[in-house]
Amino acid sequence: MANSNNWIDIASDVQYSPDLFSIPPHYIKDIKSVLIPNGFVKDRIARLAFDIVNDTDGPLNICCILKGGYQFFSDLVANIKKIRKVNNQSIPLTYDFIRVKSYVNTESTGNIQVSLTENELKKYEGKDILIVEDLVDTGKTMVELLKLLKKYNPKSIKVACLMIKKRENKDYPYIPDYVGFSIPDEFIVGYALDYNEHYRDLDHVCIINDEAKKRFSI
Ligand code: 5GP
Repeated sequence: MANSNNWIDIASDVQYSPDLFSIPPHYIKDIKSVLIPNGFVKDRIARLAFDIVNDTDGPLNICCILKGGYQFFSDLVANIKKIRKVNNQSIPLTYDFIRVKSYVNTESTGNIQVSLTENELKKYEGKDILIVEDLVDTGKTMVELLKLLKKYNPKSIKVACLMIKKRENKDYPYIPDYVGFSIPDEFIVGYALDYNEHYRDLDHVCIINDEAKKRFSI
């Protein structure tokens, strides 16, 4: 189980100038700062994969939460596949991709829309499930999703989340089983996270400036 000692804490004053990194020219004027460089994200994911394999015995059904979780899912699975347990055992993996939408502009709407049908949900009975999610902020999305999936009696459900947001003077509303980083309470983009569908193709986790938010607001 995760606790405050087993993730990397990104302090709010550790933000790098975009001029120090390779940023796609179509985004250069939008980026206020780089919060987590891509290489750092990947190094952390290698360790999360090791922890997950260590804790897993049988086949694992991995549910990627689209769209923001796809890059984390892709790098995590690539690492899990390379790891061998004692006696050269490896973990058989199956994949599901779930669309979950809860945000408009930078605000959580509090209710989630899930793309799975009743028949697809019934397949989870008796299975070990690992949900792979980009970011937990208020925790509402994950709490609602877990409530829904538990109704279908999986054997176990764990959650791997790349980032969790630190909220000033507030406890974490929900703590996933595996967490990559805790980050300051800022709206972030990149590494598949979007602002109204923009910036998913940015490799680093970044903070955008106010002009960019205004330009792509819907
Ligand atoms: P929560 O329900 O925990 O407040 O929000 C979780 C969902 O909202 C995540 O799936 C994530 O995609 C999205 N989200 C929350 N904070 C941010 C953010 O700073 N940037 C982006 N791009 N998405 C966010």
